Amino acid sequence: MKLVFLGPPGAGKGTISRMVSERLGIPQISTGDIFRTAVKEKTELGLKVQAILAAGGLVPDELTIAIVKDRLSWPDAQRSYILDGFPRTIAQAEALAGFSSLDAAVDFEVKDELILFRLTGRRVCKVCGAIYHVVTKPPKVEGMCDLCGGELYIRNDDKEETVKARLNAYHEETEPLIGWYGNRSLLLTIDGSPDAETVYNAFISEIGRFLRK
Ligand code: ADP
Ligand code: ADP
Ligand code: ZN
Repeated sequence: MKLVFLGPPGAGKGTISRMVSERLGIPQISTGDIFRTAVKEKTELGLKVQAILAAGGLVPDELTIAIVKDRLSWPDAQRSYILDGFPRTIAQAEALAGFSSLDAAVDFEVKDELILFRLTGRRVCKVCGAIYHVVTKPPKVEGMCDLCGGELYIRNDDKEETVKARLNAYHEETEPLIGWYGNRSLLLTIDGSPDAETVYNAFISEIGRFLRK
């Protein structure tokens, strides 16, 4: 199954795509993770995108598309993948349609009010990228990853001012993709507001009808 996960920052794209990846063995490809790793490692890509991520803007389409196109050419992504956080613009969706054929675009719906709560409480493992929340998914030991023992950190774009910029970018650039995929009969809408197991189960029970087409 070849899927893209849409939805505003904090909708649970990373959480649900990691659950699907672990449970069904499908590669999860997160452009946000790719950019954050590049920033951490101070690669050429990292130096290019650091300021954009810190301001909550979008990385230019050309650069983002080239990275995804390359990643999808790897052997592990030939049968199945979940793209988490790509596409984020119509231009990215059009480019993707030119080099891969999707089964569905899954839109996780969450109201703006819930987003600030989710993002300000988000904690991420420095080592493996596992996602926690101080209230809804606390680690067993404070500040430490359950999976690998890595240190948890607060993303520097999860502060209130930056969240506002990211939400603006979402509403202006990314939300139009809901109609774009709807017009192509590829859209699956899932309520992202209940707990993660409920969201995961809703996804599993709905996705089948897209795979049998
Ligand atoms: P979130 O999990 O909050 O939705 P991501 O981890 O997906 O955020 O992305 C973090 C940042 O990386 C974005 O704010 C943006 O700057 C950049 N980014 C990620 N994916 C894309 C994309 N497809 N196009 C442009 N920029 C992107
Ligand atoms: P996204 O990738 O869409 O930005 P994340 O998966 O990183 O979203 O989730 C954002 C925050 O909300 C994280 O702290 C995560 O633990 C928490 N979270 C995600 N899904 C749920 C859910 N269904 N219920 C409660 N909290 C959630
Ligand atoms: Zn970890």
